[in-house]
Amino acid sequence: MKAIAVIPGKPNSAHLVETPRPTLHAGTVLVKVIRVGVDGTDREINEGLYGAAPAGADFLVLGHESFGRVVEVGPGVKKVRPGDYVVATVRRPDDCINCRAGEYDMCIAGNYTERGIKGRHGYLSEFYVEAPTYLVNVPPTLKEVGVLLEPLSIVEKGIMQAYKIQERLVWKPQRALVLGAGTVGLMATIVLRLRGLEVFTMARTPKPNRHADLVEATGARYLSSREQPVLGLDETYGRFDIIFEATGYSPLAFEAMEVFGNNGVLILSSVTGGDRHVEIPADKLNLEMVLGNKVVVGTVNANRRYFERGVVDMQRAEERWPGLLGRFITHRVQGLENYEEMIRLLNHEKSAIKIVVELGAGAQETTAKR
Ligand SMILES: [Zn+2]
Repeated sequence: MKAIAVIPGKPNSAHLVETPRPTLHAGTVLVKVIRVGVDGTDREINEGLYGAAPAGADFLVLGHESFGRVVEVGPGVKKVRPGDYVVATVRRPDDCINCRAGEYDMCIAGNYTERGIKGRHGYLSEFYVEAPTYLVNVPPTLKEVGVLLEPLSIVEKGIMQAYKIQERLVWKPQRALVLGAGTVGLMATIVLRLRGLEVFTMARTPKPNRHADLVEATGARYLSSREQPVLGLDETYGRFDIIFEATGYSPLAFEAMEVFGNNGVLILSSVTGGDRHVEIPADKLNLEMVLGNKVVVGTVNANRRYFERGVVDMQRAEERWPGLLGRFITHRVQGLENYEEMIRLLNHEKSAIKIVVELGAGAQETTAKR
């Protein structure tokens, strides 16, 4: 079968490979891939910044945002059936205490693997085989947007954990600030709106633009950082109970600390691999954190629970704003053969929100073998 792979560590090495179709064993599931979303992680792996091939392989199949349909299940599999639509989680556990408890997104040992990223092939291939515990069922009504579940799961984790942490007090959050209006920022806007908050979502480009339209379709307010910086936002709109940082620009994490309210939570989700230094008002920030009982929490990856919550919120979002999630998919690459187009869009298409690779014309209508 065909797959899109890179040679980890070698810049711009994305290429098409012919690799054996994975074999089904007892307790595993064969999935035909329908479409795969790509993001900055795939771009950075192709740049050679990180990424690791599976043991014994000299290439890594890319792709961690999957959507597919079960073709066949091995003996003993009961949780999923042929014909089911599924999304696979990304991380696979090591044997630390959190991983053993199924909380592999909270791994402390760091010896986990990740499909399409670290030590395991990803989903940009015609088929994959996986254990059912890592497959999350998606109802057919969500089949056009199910590919967005992996990025949504990241947001669900950050927000669910913030609410969990806030069980430390009586907390009725009203106002949220989302920094960034890429896929993660937009997803955070949706999830916070579904929770009934007044949401302000900030990105660089002034209105009008596609991102602003999507933000405002949820009833949130779009702000441009070119027109109004983060510092001072609290004076205009009041302090924020939740801030979700998803810009990829680390200095904003510290600016956000100056505008969140007493008892507030600041969720940091940007993976920033650089070496940027900034000067910060350390005494002021420290004092406000202390006197305001504030929490800053980092979040990465997501386990099955957050994918399942994502399915629920996707359904609620589709009911409340029909068709909105579908508008996140702005660019479609037809077929694995067009991997060069995928890389070009990832590297250069600034207007893109979600780029997906479609695996074959009419793939979504493939009749499953029963
Ligand atoms: Zn672990």
